[in-house]
Amino acid sequence: MNYEPTIGLEIHVELKTKTKMFCDCLNDPDEKHPNFNVCPTCMGHPGTLPTINKEAVEKLLKVGLVLNSKVAEFSKFDRKNYFYPDLPKGYQISQYDLPLCGGGELEIEGGGKINLERIHLEEDTGRLLHPEGEKYTLVDFNRAGIPLMELVTRPDLKSGKEIEKFAKELQLILRYLDVSDADMEKGQMRIEVNISIKKKGAKELGTKVEIKNINSVKAASAATDFEIKRQTEKLEKGEKIIQETRGWDENKDATFSQRTKEGSADYRYFPEPDLPPMKFSKDEVEELRLGLPELPAQRKERFKKQYGLTNAQVEIFTIAKNFGDYYESVASELDAASMVTHLQKGYKDIPPAEKHLPAKLHALAANYMITEFPPLLNMQGMEINELEGIKITPESFAELMVMIFHEELSSTNAKLVLKEIAETGLHPSQIVKEKNLGQTSDIEEIGRAADEIVTKNPKAVEDYKKGKVETIKFLTGQVMALTRGKANPQIVSQLLKQKLSDF
Ligand SMILES: [Zn+2]
Repeated sequence: MNYEPTIGLEIHVELKTKTKMFCDCLNDPDEKHPNFNVCPTCMGHPGTLPTINKEAVEKLLKVGLVLNSKVAEFSKFDRKNYFYPDLPKGYQISQYDLPLCGGGELEIEGGGKINLERIHLEEDTGRLLHPEGEKYTLVDFNRAGIPLMELVTRPDLKSGKEIEKFAKELQLILRYLDVSDADMEKGQMRIEVNISIKKKGAKELGTKVEIKNINSVKAASAATDFEIKRQTEKLEKGEKIIQETRGWDENKDATFSQRTKEGSADYRYFPEPDLPPMKFSKDEVEELRLGLPELPAQRKERFKKQYGLTNAQVEIFTIAKNFGDYYESVASELDAASMVTHLQKGYKDIPPAEKHLPAKLHALAANYMITEFPPLLNMQGMEINELEGIKITPESFAELMVMIFHEELSSTNAKLVLKEIAETGLHPSQIVKEKNLGQTSDIEEIGRAADEIVTKNPKAVEDYKKGKVETIKFLTGQVMALTRGKANPQIVSQLLKQKLSDF
């Protein structure tokens, strides 16, 4: 291919704050009644005055700090003048030449840094609703005035895949900072892709096309790859690219023209006269920096070190943050349980053989959670990151892990017990007792079952005698079934071998 794409992103994120950006109305994305969270200020009535929401400013600065952006010492708001029915004031309060944060970078998976142009703060518009089959449009101002962060990247991206990586990493950071849930389907995060194609190595950029109204990370990636292909093919045929805004049609897997641009809009920006400019001292910024929570990259490192988990496990516990938090509670229960065991045994010092006990329990619990939780949660209509209301408490789960570790339960019965806890919320020891599921190493009990199976299966016994050693597996399975999974399979197989050699 003789052409290469130049891609930049504009990402809008609704910040999770108690109130709106410039008034005291609640910022509640779940409000079902239209035009409920509104007041004269966010409705743009004459004579009202806006005030700055400190929580929103701080949340945006935190994002800036994490992305190595430079926090401005002096910043201000500006009016961006345009008319639109969902913009009651006839202008939007935004930031023009002095954004809160300038520059910065985000490292994407697999290496590579995407540089940022700026991050600024503005307010969201209302929402227009077009009821089907009706000739009118409705407007809901609940969203008007919600704090909106706009992040602009430099044109550093090269493909849909890179957009996907960038968007996912950003989403994760926003969630860890508790700045936004950044759910694209709910419009909490909106990606606009600016893309142009030029001859490889050429200095001059090609004609810019914007892709808007994308409602998932996947769609952003697919729309971008589609555009790269569409524009390249046009150029190869000697055709011209039109400067325009395009949307993404999920059903057709294609972008479509929404409107062509006639020159850039003149927004006649001027400093917002009703709001004071903002100044930030080094101390204030430093205080914010010190208050930053643990971030995804730091958690990955810590989980590897503290719990000895594999890269793949750490990845899951980082992306699904609540799932990772749950694992941490289980791990701390397991640490406590190992300590209790040591104390019960009267050890002054932990004997070398048991020093690795917590690490083994940590690994067991991680494996078990990752393989067994998703199907269990699916059955209850939940996903691994939504653990509210789950009946398996970290205490119960840790207790179950200890039982498995000490071989008090067969693996089949352990799964049964876990399912039972998920349904009833009972403790594992209670379930094991009530259902009589505990694994037994009682030689006499297992011996009686083994005798019965040997008598019932003369053919298999004969085969074994003739040298078909693998028959032992079949016989072991039979004994396991007879004891309803309670027998310790190693003891069963040992006992059977003994019995058959005496036969
Ligand atoms: Zn208001």
